[in-house]
Amino acid sequence: MGNYEDKVVCTIVEDTTVVVYVASTTSLVEEARFLHNTSPVATAALGRALTLAGIMGAALKEGQKVTLYIRCLGPLESILVQANSQGEVRGYVSQPLVFIPSREDKKLNVEEAVGKGSQLSVVKDLGLGEPYAGYIEMPRGGIAYDLAYYFALSEQLPSACSAGVYVGEKGEVLSAGGFIIHTPAGTPSAVVKKIEDNISVLPPVSSLLFEGKSPEEIIQNLLASLSYKIVGEKKLHYHCYCSRERARRTLILLGKEELEDLLAQEGRAEVSCPFCNRVYLFGDRELKELIEKGNK
Ligand code: ZN
Repeated sequence: MGNYEDKVVCTIVEDTTVVVYVASTTSLVEEARFLHNTSPVATAALGRALTLAGIMGAALKEGQKVTLYIRCLGPLESILVQANSQGEVRGYVSQPLVFIPSREDKKLNVEEAVGKGSQLSVVKDLGLGEPYAGYIEMPRGGIAYDLAYYFALSEQLPSACSAGVYVGEKGEVLSAGGFIIHTPAGTPSAVVKKIEDNISVLPPVSSLLFEGKSPEEIIQNLLASLSYKIVGEKKLHYHCYCSRERARRTLILLGKEELEDLLAQEGRAEVSCPFCNRVYLFGDRELKELIEKGNK
């Protein structure tokens, strides 16, 4: 079993603008599974999304964050994951208990659980006011290939993406990880060809991590016979930054009438965080205060 802590390693291929990120995310995906009690196929889908978001987050500047939102045509209904430049990753799937038969090759059928043709939205909050958002219809539903398609179509950035989660007999996460490779226009075709050849013989990243390979060793495989330089590394972890104050703002957004109804019927309000399941309770006095605030 892979015993490396979660991190993403960033590399550039020398004399090019090719960037390669490889991440190991076993612990954070296991934490997500534990929090949300996800079924194996839901664990795999959520874990793939968390892994790719974690990599995209690590590529951002301080204070920036990225959200991947999938409106699934399949039974998972929706997947929402977020990551920021500090390596903090969080997410959830709206139907965590979905069970569907595995594929013929015994792999979890993420494609079917998500659904071909689902909508993938990528929202990047770069701290410059209006966030940048792009949408695609997912050609496959397995998430990584679909994200590569998004990069090519929405960002004009030819890319290769991979993400995988190896789920054990009891539903536990044995290994998880993935990579994103950007080969911007103008990259020498011989370099692109070499990377494609290396990818075509690469075992699944989750298998390599399970065997104890590190992200650095996976980079060696991906960039075999090319010269490259490791330029950065960032720790990744599951972290939810919800707070009582944010929960309070959510309540205010409900509006005065809704709050008055809650006060009359329940005498209190509960706000639960979908990312970490924490529950924030507001008693009748606080509710009255919120209603008064809403009046001003
Ligand atoms: Zn939370």
